[in-house]
Amino acid sequence: MEKQIKGLIYDIRGFSVNDGPGIRKTIFLKGCPLRCSWCHNPESFEFSTRKWLRKEQTGSHIFNKMRILGKYYTADEIVEEIITDVPFFEQSSGGVTLSGGDPLAQPDFSYEVLKNCKQLNIHTCVDTSGYGNWQDFHRIATVTDLFLYDLKLADPAQHKKYTGRDNRSILENLMKLRHMNSEIHIRIPLVENITDTPENLDAIKRIITFIPGLKRIDLLPYHTIARRKYHRMNLPYKHENMPEYPLDKAEKIMLNFSSSAEMVTLGG
Ligand code: SF4
Repeated sequence: MEKQIKGLIYDIRGFSVNDGPGIRKTIFLKGCPLRCSWCHNPESFEFSTRKWLRKEQTGSHIFNKMRILGKYYTADEIVEEIITDVPFFEQSSGGVTLSGGDPLAQPDFSYEVLKNCKQLNIHTCVDTSGYGNWQDFHRIATVTDLFLYDLKLADPAQHKKYTGRDNRSILENLMKLRHMNSEIHIRIPLVENITDTPENLDAIKRIITFIPGLKRIDLLPYHTIARRKYHRMNLPYKHENMPEYPLDKAEKIMLNFSSSAEMVTLGG
Protein backbone atom coordinates (compact mmCIF):
# COMPACT_ATOMS: atom_id res chain seq x y z
CA MET A 1 0.00 0.00 0.00
CA GLU A 2 1.25 3.49 -0.89
CA LYS A 3 2.46 5.40 2.16
CA GLN A 4 0.58 8.66 2.65
CA ILE A 5 2.32 11.97 3.25
CA LYS A 6 1.61 13.39 6.68
CA GLY A 7 1.15 17.03 7.54
CA LEU A 8 1.82 18.74 10.86
CA ILE A 9 -1.29 20.60 12.09
CA TYR A 10 -1.63 22.69 15.24
CA ASP A 11 -5.30 23.63 15.13
CA ILE A 12 -8.53 22.84 13.31
CA ARG A 13 -11.36 25.34 13.61
CA GLY A 14 -14.90 24.94 12.33
CA PHE A 15 -17.41 27.76 11.77
CA SER A 16 -14.72 30.23 10.84
CA VAL A 17 -16.01 33.35 9.05
CA ASN A 18 -12.84 35.41 8.51
CA ASP A 19 -10.80 33.05 6.35
CA GLY A 20 -12.61 33.24 3.02
CA PRO A 21 -16.26 33.27 1.90
CA GLY A 22 -19.09 31.66 3.88
CA ILE A 23 -18.64 29.29 6.80
CA ARG A 24 -15.27 27.57 6.63
CA LYS A 25 -13.23 24.89 8.27
CA THR A 26 -9.76 26.31 8.79
CA ILE A 27 -6.80 23.96 9.07
CA PHE A 28 -3.74 25.56 10.66
CA LEU A 29 -0.50 24.01 9.44
CA LYS A 30 2.52 24.23 11.68
CA GLY A 31 5.76 25.72 10.38
CA CYS A 32 6.58 29.04 8.74
CA PRO A 33 9.82 30.16 7.04
CA LEU A 34 9.16 33.78 8.08
CA ARG A 35 9.40 35.37 11.52
CA CYS A 36 7.27 38.49 11.28
CA SER A 37 8.02 40.51 14.40
CA TRP A 38 4.27 41.12 14.99
CA CYS A 39 3.09 37.54 14.24
CA HIS A 40 -0.06 36.62 16.17
CA ASN A 41 0.58 32.90 15.90
CA PRO A 42 4.06 32.21 17.33
CA GLU A 43 2.88 28.68 18.14
CA SER A 44 2.95 28.08 14.38
CA PHE A 45 6.63 28.97 13.86
CA GLU A 46 8.42 25.63 14.21
CA PHE A 47 8.17 22.62 11.89
CA SER A 48 7.97 20.33 14.91
CA THR A 49 5.73 19.62 17.89
CA ARG A 50 6.34 21.44 21.15
CA LYS A 51 5.11 21.48 24.74
CA TRP A 52 2.52 24.13 25.51
CA LEU A 53 1.54 25.14 29.04
CA ARG A 54 -2.10 26.13 29.25
CA LYS A 55 -4.13 27.49 32.18
CA GLU A 56 -7.30 25.45 32.73
CA GLN A 57 -10.07 25.82 35.28
CA THR A 58 -12.31 23.31 37.06
CA GLY A 59 -14.76 25.17 39.31
CA SER A 60 -12.64 27.68 41.25
CA HIS A 61 -9.48 25.63 40.81
CA ILE A 62 -7.07 27.04 38.18
CA PHE A 63 -4.18 24.83 37.16
CA ASN A 64 -1.51 24.56 34.46
CA LYS A 65 -1.98 21.75 31.97
CA MET A 66 0.77 20.67 29.62
CA ARG A 67 -0.32 19.78 26.11
CA ILE A 68 1.60 18.91 22.98
CA LEU A 69 1.16 21.45 20.24
CA GLY A 70 1.08 19.92 16.77
CA LYS A 71 -0.14 16.58 15.52
CA TYR A 72 0.61 14.65 12.34
CA TYR A 73 -2.33 13.75 10.10
CA THR A 74 -2.57 12.06 6.72
CA ALA A 75 -4.38 13.97 3.98
CA ASP A 76 -7.24 11.43 4.17
CA GLU A 77 -7.65 12.01 7.91
CA ILE A 78 -7.88 15.78 7.42
CA VAL A 79 -10.33 15.44 4.53
CA GLU A 80 -12.52 13.26 6.78
CA GLU A 81 -12.51 16.11 9.33
CA ILE A 82 -13.38 18.62 6.61
CA ILE A 83 -16.31 16.72 5.11
CA THR A 84 -18.20 16.70 8.42
CA ASP A 85 -18.85 20.42 7.74
CA VAL A 86 -20.07 20.05 4.13
CA PRO A 87 -23.72 20.85 5.07
CA PHE A 88 -22.56 24.21 6.48
CA PHE A 89 -20.43 24.89 3.40
CA GLU A 90 -23.43 24.20 1.18
CA GLN A 91 -25.72 26.53 3.14
CA SER A 92 -23.21 29.41 3.18
CA SER A 93 -21.10 28.97 0.02
CA GLY A 94 -18.21 28.22 2.34
CA GLY A 95 -15.44 25.65 2.19
CA VAL A 96 -12.01 24.79 3.53
CA THR A 97 -9.10 27.15 4.21
CA LEU A 98 -5.53 26.06 4.75
CA SER A 99 -3.73 28.55 6.98
CA GLY A 100 -0.72 28.46 9.23
CA GLY A 101 2.13 28.92 9.64
CA ASP A 102 2.22 28.64 5.89
CA PRO A 103 0.54 25.87 3.85
CA LEU A 104 3.17 26.42 1.13
CA ALA A 105 5.82 25.19 3.55
CA GLN A 106 4.22 21.69 3.52
CA PRO A 107 3.49 21.66 -0.22
CA ASP A 108 2.94 17.92 -0.82
CA PHE A 109 0.50 17.55 2.05
CA SER A 110 -1.33 20.80 1.19
CA TYR A 111 -1.65 19.74 -2.45
CA GLU A 112 -3.10 16.33 -1.49
CA VAL A 113 -5.70 17.86 0.87
CA LEU A 114 -6.74 20.54 -1.62
CA LYS A 115 -6.90 18.12 -4.54
CA ASN A 116 -9.13 15.74 -2.59
CA CYS A 117 -11.39 18.62 -1.53
CA LYS A 118 -11.70 19.83 -5.12
CA GLN A 119 -12.72 16.30 -6.16
CA LEU A 120 -15.51 16.56 -3.56
CA ASN A 121 -16.57 19.97 -4.95
CA ILE A 122 -15.48 21.80 -1.80
CA HIS A 123 -14.36 25.44 -2.26
CA THR A 124 -10.64 25.70 -1.43
CA CYS A 125 -8.74 28.66 -0.04
CA VAL A 126 -5.07 29.08 0.95
CA ASP A 127 -3.90 31.77 3.36
CA THR A 128 -0.21 32.39 2.62
CA SER A 129 2.78 34.68 2.96
CA GLY A 130 3.53 33.82 -0.68
CA TYR A 131 7.06 32.73 0.23
CA GLY A 132 8.25 29.59 -1.54
CA ASN A 133 9.29 28.18 -4.88
CA TRP A 134 7.01 28.62 -7.89
CA GLN A 135 6.92 24.92 -8.74
CA ASP A 136 5.18 24.12 -5.44
CA PHE A 137 3.05 27.23 -5.66
CA HIS A 138 1.89 26.44 -9.19
CA ARG A 139 0.87 22.89 -8.25
CA ILE A 140 -1.12 24.16 -5.26
CA ALA A 141 -2.73 26.91 -7.39
CA THR A 142 -4.19 24.27 -9.75
CA VAL A 143 -6.40 23.05 -6.88
CA THR A 144 -7.05 26.37 -5.06
CA ASP A 145 -10.05 28.61 -5.75
CA LEU A 146 -8.90 31.54 -3.64
CA PHE A 147 -5.61 32.81 -2.22
CA LEU A 148 -5.49 35.15 0.78
CA TYR A 149 -2.12 36.66 -0.07
CA ASP A 150 -0.13 38.76 2.40
CA LEU A 151 1.72 41.87 1.28
CA LYS A 152 3.61 43.18 4.26
CA LEU A 153 6.54 45.32 3.16
CA ALA A 154 7.44 46.30 -0.40
CA ASP A 155 11.08 47.17 0.24
CA PRO A 156 13.24 43.97 0.26
CA ALA A 157 15.60 45.22 3.01
CA GLN A 158 12.70 46.26 5.27
CA HIS A 159 10.96 42.95 4.55
CA LYS A 160 14.07 41.06 5.59
CA LYS A 161 14.51 43.20 8.69
CA TYR A 162 11.00 42.60 10.01
CA THR A 163 10.20 39.09 8.71
CA GLY A 164 13.62 37.46 8.45
CA ARG A 165 13.32 36.89 4.66
CA ASP A 166 13.44 39.10 1.62
CA ASN A 167 10.33 39.42 -0.53
CA ARG A 168 11.69 38.46 -3.96
CA SER A 169 9.89 35.10 -4.26
CA ILE A 170 6.72 36.59 -2.71
CA LEU A 171 6.46 39.28 -5.39
CA GLU A 172 7.52 36.94 -8.21
CA ASN A 173 4.95 34.32 -7.18
CA LEU A 174 2.23 36.97 -7.04
CA MET A 175 3.03 38.19 -10.56
CA LYS A 176 2.83 34.59 -11.86
CA LEU A 177 -0.27 33.72 -9.85
CA ARG A 178 -2.29 36.55 -11.43
CA HIS A 179 -2.18 34.61 -14.75
CA MET A 180 -3.79 31.52 -13.20
CA ASN A 181 -7.46 30.86 -12.52
CA SER A 182 -7.40 31.31 -8.74
CA GLU A 183 -8.96 34.43 -7.26
CA ILE A 184 -6.59 36.56 -5.15
CA HIS A 185 -7.43 38.67 -2.11
CA ILE A 186 -4.61 40.83 -0.73
CA ARG A 187 -4.04 41.07 3.03
CA ILE A 188 -2.00 43.93 4.47
CA PRO A 189 -1.04 43.93 8.16
CA LEU A 190 -1.11 47.44 9.66
CA VAL A 191 1.75 47.79 12.13
CA GLU A 192 2.48 51.36 13.21
CA ASN A 193 5.64 52.91 11.78
CA ILE A 194 6.59 49.59 10.15
CA THR A 195 4.06 48.59 7.50
CA ASP A 196 1.84 51.69 7.59
CA THR A 197 4.37 54.28 6.36
CA PRO A 198 3.16 56.27 3.33
CA GLU A 199 6.14 54.94 1.32
CA ASN A 200 5.24 51.31 2.02
CA LEU A 201 1.50 51.72 1.45
CA ASP A 202 2.12 53.61 -1.82
CA ALA A 203 4.52 50.90 -2.99
CA ILE A 204 1.96 48.17 -2.15
CA LYS A 205 -0.68 50.14 -4.04
CA ARG A 206 1.57 50.17 -7.09
CA ILE A 207 2.18 46.41 -6.84
CA ILE A 208 -1.52 45.58 -6.72
CA THR A 209 -2.27 47.63 -9.84
CA PHE A 210 -0.75 44.63 -11.64
CA ILE A 211 -3.60 42.36 -10.43
CA PRO A 212 -6.48 42.99 -12.84
CA GLY A 213 -9.98 43.13 -11.31
CA LEU A 214 -8.77 42.73 -7.71
CA LYS A 215 -11.90 41.93 -5.71
CA ARG A 216 -10.79 42.42 -2.16
CA ILE A 217 -8.16 43.89 0.16
CA ASP A 218 -8.22 43.07 3.87
CA LEU A 219 -6.38 45.49 6.15
CA LEU A 220 -5.34 43.70 9.34
CA PRO A 221 -4.67 46.17 12.18
CA TYR A 222 -2.09 45.10 14.77
CA HIS A 223 -3.56 43.90 18.06
CA THR A 224 -1.97 42.92 21.33
CA ILE A 225 -3.63 39.52 21.90
CA ALA A 226 -0.51 37.55 20.95
CA ARG A 227 1.69 39.12 23.65
CA ARG A 228 0.70 36.55 26.27
CA LYS A 229 1.49 33.70 23.89
CA TYR A 230 5.10 34.90 23.53
CA HIS A 231 5.45 35.11 27.31
CA ARG A 232 4.05 31.62 27.79
CA MET A 233 6.41 30.26 25.17
CA ASN A 234 9.42 32.14 26.57
CA LEU A 235 9.93 33.84 23.23
CA PRO A 236 11.22 37.41 22.96
CA TYR A 237 8.53 39.84 21.79
CA LYS A 238 9.69 42.96 19.99
CA HIS A 239 6.51 45.00 20.46
CA GLU A 240 5.96 44.80 24.25
CA ASN A 241 4.79 48.41 24.43
CA MET A 242 3.00 48.75 21.13
CA PRO A 243 -0.71 49.61 21.61
CA GLU A 244 -3.60 48.33 19.52
CA TYR A 245 -3.59 49.90 16.06
CA PRO A 246 -5.53 53.21 16.14
CA LEU A 247 -8.94 52.83 14.50
CA ASP A 248 -8.99 56.36 13.01
CA LYS A 249 -5.68 55.71 11.25
CA ALA A 250 -6.90 52.34 9.95
CA GLU A 251 -10.07 53.95 8.60
CA LYS A 252 -8.04 56.57 6.72
CA ILE A 253 -5.91 53.85 5.15
CA MET A 254 -9.06 51.98 4.20
CA LEU A 255 -10.30 55.08 2.34
CA ASN A 256 -6.91 55.47 0.70
CA PHE A 257 -7.20 51.94 -0.75
CA SER A 258 -10.87 52.26 -1.72
CA SER A 259 -10.16 52.56 -5.44
CA SER A 260 -7.65 49.67 -5.46
CA ALA A 261 -10.20 46.83 -5.15
CA GLU A 262 -13.95 46.18 -5.32
CA MET A 263 -14.05 45.76 -1.55
CA VAL A 264 -11.69 46.91 1.22
CA THR A 265 -12.25 45.61 4.75
CA LEU A 266 -10.78 46.24 8.17
CA GLY A 267 -9.94 43.06 10.03
CA GLY A 268 -10.65 40.55 7.24
S1 SF4 B 1 4.04 34.74 7.59
FE1 SF4 B 1 2.24 34.72 8.93
S2 SF4 B 1 2.50 32.90 10.23
FE2 SF4 B 1 4.50 33.33 9.27
S3 SF4 B 1 5.58 34.56 10.80
FE3 SF4 B 1 4.56 35.97 9.37
S4 SF4 B 1 2.59 36.47 10.31
FE4 SF4 B 1 3.40 34.63 11.34
